[in-house]
Amino acid sequence: MMAQLLAMDTRERPSRPQFIDISGQTFGRLKVIKYHGRRNGKIYFVCECKCGTKLAVMGEQLRNGSAKKCRAKCTAE
Ligand SMILES: [Zn+2]
Repeated sequence: MMAQLLAMDTRERPSRPQFIDISGQTFGRLKVIKYHGRRNGKIYFVCECKCGTKLAVMGEQLRNGSAKKCRAKCTAE
């Protein structure tokens, strides 16, 4: 099911300090569901927007505030 989001390396969880588990946290309209995988050295999480859209988001974009919703104009609840 999650393979539909993005094909990536989910064989092993990265370790700290590179990997910070932010599962369960909320960033703007995005709630982090779980660790998704790595792609090009970046760590992705499965997020669910308030509108119900599920998407893979880079962990650093969540933490630095650049990812807050599923798309720029999302305002649906
Ligand atoms: Zn949305």
